[in-house]
Amino acid sequence: MRIWKVFLVIILIIAGLFLSLRLTTVQDFIFKSLVTNLANFESSFPAEDSLSAIVCGSRSPLVSPGRAQTCIAVQAGSNIFIVDIGDGSANNIQAFNIPTDKIKAVLITHLHSDHFSDLADLHLLSWVQGRSGKLKVFGPEGIDLVTSGFELAYEKDYQFRTEHHGEEMLPRANAGFDTTTIDLNNAVIFDKNGLKITAFKVTHEPVDPALGFRFDYKGRSIVISGDTSYDENLAKAAKDADVMFAEAQANHMLNVMKESVDGPLKKILDDIQTYHMTPVEAAKLAKMARVDHVIFYHLNPAPRIGIMENIFTRGVNEIIEDWTMSKDGTMVVLPIESNEIKISELN
Ligand SMILES: [Zn+2]
Ligand SMILES: [Zn+2]
Repeated sequence: MRIWKVFLVIILIIAGLFLSLRLTTVQDFIFKSLVTNLANFESSFPAEDSLSAIVCGSRSPLVSPGRAQTCIAVQAGSNIFIVDIGDGSANNIQAFNIPTDKIKAVLITHLHSDHFSDLADLHLLSWVQGRSGKLKVFGPEGIDLVTSGFELAYEKDYQFRTEHHGEEMLPRANAGFDTTTIDLNNAVIFDKNGLKITAFKVTHEPVDPALGFRFDYKGRSIVISGDTSYDENLAKAAKDADVMFAEAQANHMLNVMKESVDGPLKKILDDIQTYHMTPVEAAKLAKMARVDHVIFYHLNPAPRIGIMENIFTRGVNEIIEDWTMSKDGTMVVLPIESNEIKISELN
């Protein structure tokens, strides 16, 4: 067969397939397969017994397309905790198939809105998925103002949804929050099923208190820094941890950005430099703590292209070898009875 004939047959097949998409039976078949796939809910967390975490939001308040504000979902055995729930992160939790009915509690590091603004959406998501009680929230002093404020704003929403879907599906008694203010004198906030969660203080003046959290599960450990400037208390709390999620702000990049903007943004880019740590500072603390792997998150400015990542992490390789820049969907798995640290991307 001559080459032009083969070419013609291929074109005819492609044209036929394209035209078949106009047939309602073909459209219905495709839609039904998509719906079946959507209905097959399979958690992105591994089924194996491990301490794992998924970044459900990797950016700071400075906008960056494709990234939600701060959020890390942690699974230990069958217990799931959400650490911070910034704007856009509830959507990621849904997209990453994180089973919200298994959420034991939401832990808020501090009361900046980029750490809690999606609380209402997570509340709805977990209520619909069959949460067995009110949504448990732990946070620093003032957290009750946040949760009672959401309850007030959403009171009619709770009422209308229960009326419409019925008490059986959305029990009114399960709407709202069960709030605990963390007392650093009793810093262990959860100690059950082999999992211990310890809160610790970091420095984020004038935000006080500002917290980080350490998860210890069957010999594996993850530390989440929260928002902090350089603070050796973080190194103390992270001692010998397998993984540290470290917030990171590249002040050298903010200084370049500052030169090309005016008005309020210029002042903000200046103000924020005092209360976050740079990637190099975070690396120093991780080295001090003998942490095995650092995952940078709460990225400011969140890199949009590879070259920005290189600029962001300048100097880090001179201090530590094992580190990852997170994206929304970065997952770390620490299988128990192992030293393995498995990093992958869901997106
Ligand atoms: Zn923040
Ligand atoms: Zn903050």
